[in-house]
Amino acid sequence: MSGYAYDLVLSGGRVVDPANDVDAVLDVGMKDGSIAAISEGIPGEKAREIVDLQGDVVFPGAVDSHVHVGRAERGVGYRMTAAVGVTTMIDFGSTMDEFLPGLADRGVGQTVGALYPINRELSDRHAPRGEIIGLVDEALEEGSLGVKIVGGHYPLTPDTTAEIIDVANDRGCYIAFHLGTTETGSHIEGVREIPQLLGNNRMHVAHANSYCRGMVDSPAEEILETMDILDDLGDQVVAESYLGTINGTGGKCSDGKPESHVTRNCLAMRGYSPTQDGLREAIADGYGNVRTEYGGRMLLVTGDEGVRLWEDADTDMPMSFPVNSPQSTFLAATAKNDAGDFIVDAISTDGGANPRNVAVERGMALVRYGALTLSELAEKLSAAPADMFGLTSKGHLGEGADADVTVIDGERGLARMTIAGGRPIMLDGVIIGCGGTVITTGEGAAAVRDAGFPAHISATEDTRLYR
Ligand SMILES: [Zn+2]
Repeated sequence: MSGYAYDLVLSGGRVVDPANDVDAVLDVGMKDGSIAAISEGIPGEKAREIVDLQGDVVFPGAVDSHVHVGRAERGVGYRMTAAVGVTTMIDFGSTMDEFLPGLADRGVGQTVGALYPINRELSDRHAPRGEIIGLVDEALEEGSLGVKIVGGHYPLTPDTTAEIIDVANDRGCYIAFHLGTTETGSHIEGVREIPQLLGNNRMHVAHANSYCRGMVDSPAEEILETMDILDDLGDQVVAESYLGTINGTGGKCSDGKPESHVTRNCLAMRGYSPTQDGLREAIADGYGNVRTEYGGRMLLVTGDEGVRLWEDADTDMPMSFPVNSPQSTFLAATAKNDAGDFIVDAISTDGGANPRNVAVERGMALVRYGALTLSELAEKLSAAPADMFGLTSKGHLGEGADADVTVIDGERGLARMTIAGGRPIMLDGVIIGCGGTVITTGEGAAAVRDAGFPAHISATEDTRLYR
């Protein structure tokens, strides 16, 4: 038992906490992993440790609502995300078997949930309802936070897609969708298909900007149409968008073709043949980048070295192409409806192991540009994504909230300190945390605890999706 009132006090930073309508220079006192006080002039002698944050901005811990850390990534993304201020994140497509070992080995103290990639079990592209119910039940029991349809890469029929959405809604299971079916694709046609697939159901639209790369109309026309469609759907959809330039896809080929339809799109967009030969040429030319781990993070490699790595791996490598339109990312991040609300709820990265964890850096650039206020940025980076996933003790700095904080250097616009559960896990680029807490549902809590992790429960009725 320490005799101090606070374990840690963050002193003199500009605290921006939109959920509590706070934007002022204040001290933040933490005790036993929770926020204990926010006020002016907390006396230093009450704190076991005190950090002077004059000139810095203090946000509720950044919640990245769309990352990839669990699967082939083997946990390399935890350091990469902690380095840029992320305290909480949702992996968009790992089974618990793929996700938990990486968190145990390479976790750095963050709170992380995972959506189960339901496509992988449905390779025949058409599945009866009973099979889908079985998969959803199993995913939740194993500890998944929900399911994700990876339609853009591995499309299912519209019927099967709609059925999965319906089963998830019946079950109160979080459902996210990378748009696209066998009838459309990962582009504006996939967005136009939403109302028909959704009926009266609800779902999370993954990376809303990414369908607007100019495959059908211009990027600006496509993103404006997307904003209209999402706005018309109102509470039926929640969405995030990212600010990165590169995308994330796979290089794996079979029968002379990339398996991922997104990879084929990327090739077609720049006039390459959508085949294995076309992909080789695109990598050699510097357009296709393979991702490889080096020095504890993922790097992009292209040209002859990229081709060598890709061929050594029998083409099975994660890849990125610089295909995202800045117009689309800008509009998705900033567009509001007539009521003055953001159409896209949150700014995500779709990063993690994909080296585009630029939400804080580019979000701060939008603030400097005058496109967002600091408070709006805090909403999009923390309050809204916490609310999306029903994380009621996160996304704000009220008394009793989890002591998750992202400290941003006000001048450089970069994260300089990440605090998770009252513990600093990143300090000026140095990572010092370990392990992690798993976000799961009431149904999955036992499996998560059996696997040796603390469970953070998200209740269906608390999620922005189903509330
Ligand atoms: Zn993703």
